[in-house]
Amino acid sequence: MRFKLTFPKELADKPVFSEAILRFHRPFNIIEADVDAEKGVIVASTDLPEDDVMELVKFFEERGVRVELLAKLLEVDLEKCISCGACVSLCPVEAISIARDWSVVFDEEKCVACGLCVNACPVRALKLSIH
Ligand code: SF4
Ligand code: SF4
Repeated sequence: MRFKLTFPKELADKPVFSEAILRFHRPFNIIEADVDAEKGVIVASTDLPEDDVMELVKFFEERGVRVELLAKLLEVDLEKCISCGACVSLCPVEAISIARDWSVVFDEEKCVACGLCVNACPVRALKLSIH
């Protein structure tokens, strides 16, 4: 499960993310972190069981953190895609491939949300849900 956390300025010096790791006894994989003096945004993933996901959301919301569950990290608009392969060759973790029918196949688990494919696509067929 992937999720995006937006921390308000008041929580900048609070160890809320570390508290969550201790509370849920699970490692959280940080995919992206963008922190400045005004706010912090963290995109992370965890293999928390589904039953605990709402507990996790509640945990953060009670502390003033906005939580968005991310269903899909990368959206591929197959109507626009012309199967040029530019995204495939640029992806540093081989998260995209072209299938036999020339459709783009995306492996959510491998993606590290670098955005290289999005910028390379000549027809703007790719969109990262975290930007
Ligand atoms: S965002 Fe980066 S890692 Fe993810 S599919 Fe695109 S190029 Fe690969
Ligand atoms: S770069 Fe864009 S048009 Fe080319 S294969 Fe990838 S998604 Fe399709």
